[in-house]
Amino acid sequence: MLNVSEVRSHIPAPGAKYDVIVAGGGPAGFGAAMAAAKTGAKVLLLEARSFFGGVAGTSLWMPINRLMIRGGTRGGIHEMLVSKLRSYGQFGARTGKTTWTDGDGLHTHPDYLKLAMMELLEEAGCDYRLDSPIVGAIVENGVVKGVEVGTKSGKDLFYGDVMIDCTGDGDLSAYAGAEIQVGGEEDGKLMPVTLGFSLANVDYDKLYSFFDEQNAEESMYPTIERAEKAGYTVAPWYSFDRTTVPGVISVNNGGLKNVGRLYAADPADATLAERAGIQIAIDFVRFAREFRLPGLEDCYLDRTGAAIGVRETRRVMCDYVLTMDDAKSDADFPDPIAMRYGAVDQAGLNADDAAEKPTMRSGHTFPYRALLVKGLEGLLVAGRCGSYTHMALAAGKSMGNMMAIGQAAGVAAARASALGVTPRQLPYEEVKAGLQALNVAVGSGGDW
Ligand SMILES: Cc1cc2nc3c(=O)[nH]c(=O)nc-3n(C[C@H](O)[C@H](O)[C@H](O)COP(=O)(O)OP(=O)(O)OC[C@H]3O[C@@H](n4cnc5c(N)ncnc54)[C@H](O)[C@@H]3O)c2cc1C
Repeated sequence: MLNVSEVRSHIPAPGAKYDVIVAGGGPAGFGAAMAAAKTGAKVLLLEARSFFGGVAGTSLWMPINRLMIRGGTRGGIHEMLVSKLRSYGQFGARTGKTTWTDGDGLHTHPDYLKLAMMELLEEAGCDYRLDSPIVGAIVENGVVKGVEVGTKSGKDLFYGDVMIDCTGDGDLSAYAGAEIQVGGEEDGKLMPVTLGFSLANVDYDKLYSFFDEQNAEESMYPTIERAEKAGYTVAPWYSFDRTTVPGVISVNNGGLKNVGRLYAADPADATLAERAGIQIAIDFVRFAREFRLPGLEDCYLDRTGAAIGVRETRRVMCDYVLTMDDAKSDADFPDPIAMRYGAVDQAGLNADDAAEKPTMRSGHTFPYRALLVKGLEGLLVAGRCGSYTHMALAAGKSMGNMMAIGQAAGVAAARASALGVTPRQLPYEEVKAGLQALNVAVGSGGDW
């Protein structure tokens, strides 16, 4: 039974001081807050939306890729989340090969995921607050000292030794005056945005025998072309995942065709993206039924995601910026804090970027220096708003990898606070020892 006073004890009083404050409760922020708390810090996790999970919460049953590696454990926070989800039984999470893309994907029910994250945060002794968008940074002489949170009653201030920006959009870093990059280095192009949706009354077996990645050109593309000619709003591609609910599939897609660059931190672009997303979802149901797509003949719209899914907004520059060459060469840095596994996310790239068809051989390490926001003290960044080039972000941006980088940021922040140093002054060995204490392997992890 829910213990209300126990839950209330995790909700912070405005003005409170913490060892570590994490901004944003997506995969990276959840990993950061959990790891900092498990390393002994007094932690506050602040989330703008009314639930944790980030894209995993908004985009409906996306497989959380690289939460496990080859079905085995990654240790640390990953293992805790997998165990919690499994403890809920068949509806919490589904493993195994459910589409052509996932070998290590864990399809989590978005609502069970929200509960799992809150329960784990409470068990770890972490304070948290929802509906708490960061709207400013408290910075003194280049040192980030705290955050400003917008509420319906005004601004709340919270203070910390170390702040971690996991907002995905780099909001906290931008407010603190960090160096930011947006989109491709040459042309400013951004990865597409997508409103995920789920369909009910689907015959999986029929759908999967009709359509897989290998035969998309023959199976799905002709129908998309036909639908477009018939006046439907279509995405350039669609992909399907089984979920934890019988007869329900989730649908990912390539967003609105030919709409150009959409920058989700701009409310005008975000509005257009939401408008396009809902049209794509409802038109898909219409043409799937009209053109009798196998397995989808009698489908209906179950839900759309709580918000448009954003792959890329701001990238925050740090002491090191990860490049595509690092990813392609399986870079093994001297200060590794996480592994990034998996292929380059072709789906997330625009067509002409994807045409370059970059490949990665296995996994690459992520260096500690790429967490330290350039020119600022007291601030780390982790997740999709981290320190990569545009293409390198796509090389291993799955949620499991983002959680691993967040986890390392949490450990580093907690150790720095405990030792009374800034993260930049913290010896790398401290981070490594902290990760090992959480049963996380650092350094080269081999093939994925
Ligand atoms: C459509 C789509 C499909 C994808 N498919 C997959 C897939 O199948 N498998 C996979 O593993 N990965 C997938 N990805 C990639 C993956 O979801 C992201 O790379 C990952 O979620 C990034 O994690 P994050 O925590 O950095 O950011 P996010 O998941 O974006 O989380 C950021 C969090 O910060 C919060 N926030 C934002 N601003 C503020 C603020 N000012 N104050 C407080 N909180 C704030 C947000 O509400 C959110 O909860 C997909 C991404 C998209 C968009």
